[in-house]
Amino acid sequence: MSAAYEATLAWAQAQDAADPLRGFRDEFLIPPHEDRESFYFCGNSLGLQPRAVRPALSAELDYWGELGVEGHFKGRLPWMDYHEFVRDDLASVVGALPHEVVAMNTLGVNLHLMMVSFYRPTPERHAILIEAGSFPTDRYAVESQVRFHGFDPATALIELESDQPNGTISMEAIERVLAEHGPRIALVMLPGIQYRTGQAFDLAAITRLANRHGCMAGFDLAHAVGNLPLQLHDSGADFAIWCSYKYLNSGPGAVGGAFVHERHARTTLPRFAGWWGHDKTTRFQMGPHFEPTYGADGWQLSNPPILALAPLRVSLEIFRRAGMQRLREKSLRLTGYLEWLVHSELNQVLEVVTPGDPERRGAQLSIRVLGGRARGRSLFEYLMEHGVIGDWREPDVIRISPTPLYNRFADCLAFAEVVRRWAQRG
Ligand SMILES: *Cc1c(COP(=O)(O)O)cnc(C)c1O
Repeated sequence: MSAAYEATLAWAQAQDAADPLRGFRDEFLIPPHEDRESFYFCGNSLGLQPRAVRPALSAELDYWGELGVEGHFKGRLPWMDYHEFVRDDLASVVGALPHEVVAMNTLGVNLHLMMVSFYRPTPERHAILIEAGSFPTDRYAVESQVRFHGFDPATALIELESDQPNGTISMEAIERVLAEHGPRIALVMLPGIQYRTGQAFDLAAITRLANRHGCMAGFDLAHAVGNLPLQLHDSGADFAIWCSYKYLNSGPGAVGGAFVHERHARTTLPRFAGWWGHDKTTRFQMGPHFEPTYGADGWQLSNPPILALAPLRVSLEIFRRAGMQRLREKSLRLTGYLEWLVHSELNQVLEVVTPGDPERRGAQLSIRVLGGRARGRSLFEYLMEHGVIGDWREPDVIRISPTPLYNRFADCLAFAEVVRRWAQRG
């Protein structure tokens, strides 16, 4: 495969011209840099705006203006059941049954709501397993839940240390920690893709292992959703949560999502309830007794934010047309090309932190500049000044994520050229 790559503009442009997904780029607004388009590699942090978002928002504003409260029942997409209009596409992006997913709240809120139900500590079994160096929200959320239940994070928070190069974690390390601590772990809470290293985890294998040790398995899919073709239902995961402003391109602070496996659809586990989680056939009887809706919808609290859901609906419609499998096929080649450029052209300057096995990563490559943090910062600033948009993660990582919906092979080549210019500058 790698022999098939070439570091020339002619080659990269030929790949772009032959790309069956090339038309999707035109459906996005590419932020400008000086008199041209930037090379945007930050879809892992904030995905770009689909052009169809503005008219979709306008349409909802028009309904509001023209229909007032009647907009709940009238218009092309009545607001009452608006979250249901995104459900099927969301389910297909994450490989779930429709009633296993719900678009609601934001990631951090959903993580807490899920832990209310699926982190049920007892004196014997009250620990949570997370990866060392986890994203701050995840760390704060699990730690605060541990304290909320009256336990001590010093013993109840088990952090899985990296046992492989560059902070990555092997399956054997997860097996070892469960063999040692399994009986006292209530919840295994790991990422689908680790935000700093870009490592993808095997959700099915982790779930089997966790469940075998009597632990719940939950996943933070912030960097996996819309990036990897997930099979959440088949993975058996107890729950998962995600945000939609990264690869899902649904806009800053977009409505997040949650997955609850079908086997918990009628759970008697406690939950924090609200009227929108109530069985919708009797919701408006406004009775005092909470009857949860079957499935993930039963975790909703509030009536959905229509103006925030409209971009998600637009974005998921793009994913439906593109297809996660086709996106993944392009993504493998695109990220493979970026990696090949780094290895073959820039190996005096850069090293890749993300695992080399394509099965253990998504679109993102986490890249470190040889020679220390100051050189890393210098390259990062040079890239930004030249319209190559990535992001910086302390202490020394530049994340570059070619996303298959709108990035081109020529973008990857442009990245390599800007790095080369910076290196020659000394
Ligand atoms: C992006 C991200 C978040 C963000 O959480 P919000 O509640 O959406 O602000 C949380 N966890 C991880 C792992 C992330 O990558």
